[in-house]
Amino acid sequence: MKTEIEKPYYHIHWEEVFRALLPIDKPDTVVYGIPKGGMIAAGFLKHAKITHDPFYATLILDDIIDSGETMEIYEKAYPNTPKYALVNKTKELALKDKWVVFPWESQHPKGEETIQNNITRLMQYIGEDPKREGLLATPDRVVRSYDEIFSGYFIDPASLMTTFMADGHDEIVLVKDIEMYSMCEHHMLPFFGKAHVAYIPNDKLIGVSKLARLVDVFSRRLQIQERIGDQVTSAIEQYLKPKAAACVIEATHMCMRMRGVAKQNSVMVTSSMKGAFMTKGPARQELMQLIKG
Ligand code: ZN
Repeated sequence: MKTEIEKPYYHIHWEEVFRALLPIDKPDTVVYGIPKGGMIAAGFLKHAKITHDPFYATLILDDIIDSGETMEIYEKAYPNTPKYALVNKTKELALKDKWVVFPWESQHPKGEETIQNNITRLMQYIGEDPKREGLLATPDRVVRSYDEIFSGYFIDPASLMTTFMADGHDEIVLVKDIEMYSMCEHHMLPFFGKAHVAYIPNDKLIGVSKLARLVDVFSRRLQIQERIGDQVTSAIEQYLKPKAAACVIEATHMCMRMRGVAKQNSVMVTSSMKGAFMTKGPARQELMQLIKG
């Protein structure tokens, strides 16, 4: 049932690297490769000379221009030396939102090795020694746990929305106490609790487990609590065209608890209401009663 949607990774193949190097690979060119991607790329030049001092270079090479910040530093220091990059994200629009992975960076489809290096750096930053025994496999474990915690990005909610005919059922359908785990987008710390999802069908129903999965799909991302509720009710609206839809979430935020912000034990409650649940009428009253009871 899982539908894989396009992943934001773009893999540069060796052939593309060699092709990109062709125009600069000349015997009279002296190349300085910006560490470390540009340095690695320079290593594949056959004819050009390589220098380790940009002062003597007739060309400054980098593997990728991402935001352009790195190149800008060299632009300022060596304004007259031509610059070149294998990939220029500021010019190649198709790559703009992609995570570019070079062939020397990873043998893995998602560039895990590079990400693991980042986790190692993170451990150094917080004051740890990433080489101590207990931490050796941690980067790998973190990346793999992220694959699960953030799996929501790669599941198309449409794949969960298999509906069946309501056969005249037009009472509130409520799935209470759905366990919910998410990560706040402000601190990348967990927030978790319960989601209550309800709708009043028009002519379509959906399986109870699918509603729980829908909460998973939207909570397994970097989120804010309000948005999870809105995305859940929007999906229900879009695919079931119900008379009403609601998602009430009660959650505890670790970024508040762990960081000693006031109201340590507070639980945040948010609700997203659509259709007949929006107004303070009998439908909403009944729903709140059902959630409480
Ligand atoms: Zn937070």
